[in-house]
Amino acid sequence: MSTVNEKIAGQIQQIATQLLESKEVALFLGYTQGTVPGAMQPFVARDVEDAKRLSWSSFCVVNLANYLPGLLRSLEPPRRPNEPPPEGPLPKVGVVATGCWSRNMVVQIQENQIDRERVVIVGVPSRGMVDRRKLQESVGQREITSIQEDDNSLLIRGNGFEKVINRWDVIRDNCQTCVHPDPVIYDRLVGSLSGDRNIPDRFRQVEEIEALSVEERWNWFQEEISSCIRCYACRNVCPLCYCPTCFVDDSRPQWVGKSKEQVDTALFHIVRAYHCAGRCTDCGSCESVCPMGIKMRLFTRKLQKDCLELFDFEPGLDPDIPLPLTTYSTSDPEDFILTQIRKGDEK
Ligand code: SF4
Ligand code: SF4
Ligand code: SF4
Repeated sequence: MSTVNEKIAGQIQQIATQLLESKEVALFLGYTQGTVPGAMQPFVARDVEDAKRLSWSSFCVVNLANYLPGLLRSLEPPRRPNEPPPEGPLPKVGVVATGCWSRNMVVQIQENQIDRERVVIVGVPSRGMVDRRKLQESVGQREITSIQEDDNSLLIRGNGFEKVINRWDVIRDNCQTCVHPDPVIYDRLVGSLSGDRNIPDRFRQVEEIEALSVEERWNWFQEEISSCIRCYACRNVCPLCYCPTCFVDDSRPQWVGKSKEQVDTALFHIVRAYHCAGRCTDCGSCESVCPMGIKMRLFTRKLQKDCLELFDFEPGLDPDIPLPLTTYSTSDPEDFILTQIRKGDEK
């Protein structure tokens, strides 16, 4: 009998084949099997033969929205930087989208990075993705040579050992606290929608850090980023980071040093997190790809919590509600901008 993920993979293949065969899309963006156990890699199917390689599992951790703007541009005739796009219909791209990926696509539409008319979104209600680090920790230093996935468990094998692990125990932190697993926008749906989840303590990790003193928080932040090697994988994998020149790569002016100096590393993380404020969907891709295991998702998670508390806003849920930093209301809280000091209180 097929597992849930095998059924999803079959339906994705079917839809992609139909879209490519009918020429409704020129390319289809999904996942295929990677080269090491459990690894999945983003994959562009260009024809029906390629569509047979599309697959799905609990290891599809990279947000596919990241590749959409570039893929769409690759199908347009070449033009100069400020030249407008050509008139008339342009080729479309089919893409698989879970809940958070679809919300990033909404943000990309709002920020004019993709044209909704040019994407055919195949929605997949999310069951959460596996955190490879949690998986590895469950078997210590031993090398994993094969992973077999069932609906609720994973069978891990290595040289001289085999272990069954409860799937939910190794699901990524962001997926365990995700309240919107269903795709927000889609043209085709695989499976059925599961509805929003009620998780009262979904910001618990952030609250634990908020409860620390200023000094303790600073020490936690310094410690967390101390092993960062500035590879920028977290930035490169993020569907929000599409600046032609990132502030860290600019040399005129040079906003941040290129070295591994702690102050430069801190500046990179603080500025990147603020650039994602009100836009980050907590997809977890940044954390999943970090080679050093840095929990940088908590920085953006804190801003997500603030955004919800201050503006009652979560990114990507409704394309018609503007992003909080692109609009204002006269009733917006402004304590952080202007603090009124009453007469007699000045010291
Ligand atoms: S970190 Fe900021 S400047 Fe760099 S790519 Fe991301 S949004 Fe752009
Ligand atoms: S900052 Fe991280 S969690 Fe947020 S959208 Fe980007 S990759 Fe996803
Ligand atoms: S992926 Fe990890 S090591 Fe690389 S820049 Fe980001 S936080 Fe640093």
